Amino acid sequence: MTVRLAVPNKGRLSENSVHILKQAGLEIEDADDRRLFAQVKKRDFAVMFVRANDIVSFVAKGAVDVGITGKDLVLEAGLDVKTLYDLHFGHCRLSVAAPESSGIEKVADIRDGSVVATSFPNAARRFFEKEGKKVEITTISGAAEVTPHIGVADVIVDLVSSGSTLKVNHLKEVAIIAKSNAVVITNEKAYKEHGEQIDELVSAIESVENAANKKYLMADVPTKSLDAVRKHFPGIAGPTIMNIMGREDVVAVHVVIDKDKVYDAIHRLKRLGATGILIVPIDRMVP
Ligand code: AMP
Repeated sequence: MTVRLAVPNKGRLSENSVHILKQAGLEIEDADDRRLFAQVKKRDFAVMFVRANDIVSFVAKGAVDVGITGKDLVLEAGLDVKTLYDLHFGHCRLSVAAPESSGIEKVADIRDGSVVATSFPNAARRFFEKEGKKVEITTISGAAEVTPHIGVADVIVDLVSSGSTLKVNHLKEVAIIAKSNAVVITNEKAYKEHGEQIDELVSAIESVENAANKKYLMADVPTKSLDAVRKHFPGIAGPTIMNIMGREDVVAVHVVIDKDKVYDAIHRLKRLGATGILIVPIDRMVP
């Protein structure tokens, strides 16, 4: 049966979401012109492109079976959805920020009666209640960072990633309410009906993400250097060592290494007398 998948149609999560699905093997037709619906070639999935903001409620209502959206939006919606997987993109945090000149250094410094501007009213309300602060929440749909400067709010609750927007607006982060990243979500009913298909998709996504930061390294290494190689290249289950026909003095070594270690690895291997070093990408890694 067809599994309906909701993917952000624009905004920060859109490009990475489509990319990871394609890498995971979904041939999404016309993914680039961002139509509302797209068919998936040869697989029983249908993709719907909608706002990241709407995806949580669409999944909760059963209008779609699976969605990719932000963890922050799941938290804000407070609806009954099941998070299946934390993706390795869309990292940010939902934070409380105050003007640099306000003297507010921590939540305890925020006076009762303060006005909080945010597009995350539910998450903000829950946070201040838990902190025992009686604040007034003003819901806005964007650009929270300007509100303290135009007399609309005393503090804000907004998403932060690098912190540069806060800095430009002379605001400082006072507390982190929650950390966020893109997530794959479903609902109980859909998961009951399509569990196997959904699990397959999630494990395909996971295998792509696992592979994204790894490379496959091959090299011919002098047999006498093997101990040093073993020490430096632990691999997944240790390096694979293979004999080369007719050669006693050299073996072939294959190992999976982190992408950011490739540069050092090449130099180390060369110092150990390795030749024929090959570094190749890995499409999937299924442990
Ligand atoms: P959109 O409004 O469609 O661009 O999607 C916004 C979503 O992107 C947020 O709900 C977060 O999950 C995610 N995101 C990641 N980093 C940031 C950031 N620095 N600012 C805003 N949203 C971010």
